[in-house]
Amino acid sequence: MTTSDIPAVHRALARAFKAVRAPVIDLVAAQTHDPFKVLVGTILSARTRDQTTAEACSRLFRRVQTPQDLRKISPSELERLIFPVGFYHTKAQHLRALPDVLEAKFGGRIPQTVAELCELPGVGRKTANLVVVLGFNRLGICVDVHVQRICNRLGLLHTRTPLETEMTLRKILPKRYWKTWNSYLVSFGQTQCLPQRPRCAGCPLLTRCDYGRGA
Ligand code: SF4
Repeated sequence: MTTSDIPAVHRALARAFKAVRAPVIDLVAAQTHDPFKVLVGTILSARTRDQTTAEACSRLFRRVQTPQDLRKISPSELERLIFPVGFYHTKAQHLRALPDVLEAKFGGRIPQTVAELCELPGVGRKTANLVVVLGFNRLGICVDVHVQRICNRLGLLHTRTPLETEMTLRKILPKRYWKTWNSYLVSFGQTQCLPQRPRCAGCPLLTRCDYGRGA
């Protein structure tokens, strides 16, 4: 595909998105409208299946409503609440450190820019961009494994790293598509354009996809 295909591809992705269950962080954002919970959910979701993340969020958010609440939970209790998300021990340490860092650097508030969010424990550009978009409804481009894989398969870009992909998308993707690009591609990557065996037969993007057409 080329950049001229973006509007049609986005329309097809929107239709596909509506037909399936939304990714877990989209659900957290829609249900809570709370940047703190979007941040925590996104930290927990790394290297973790959506169902496991959703269950961990559900247990944790029964006990934790604010960053300050994280101080009231012991390290072992916090680990127990988020287990079995991937790297739960390290993630629990990051969550334990979060209120102090927020207090020291941002007056206790969740910052709203990618650069500031990246100063928080356990937060890289992928998490920061998702919090900017889903937590604050601001412009950002979150590149996770699905966005990285599908954009390259489509032939929209040819990149080797998520940072390269993010910077390329920031140049070629019209801003009106930024907020939905990650959600649509995550959903599409979980249901159609799978990592190992993409379901190219019957894919709504087949006629525009370099990989699918064997280009
Ligand atoms: Fe993915 Fe195949 Fe569809 Fe291309 S045609 S987007 S590789 S499922």
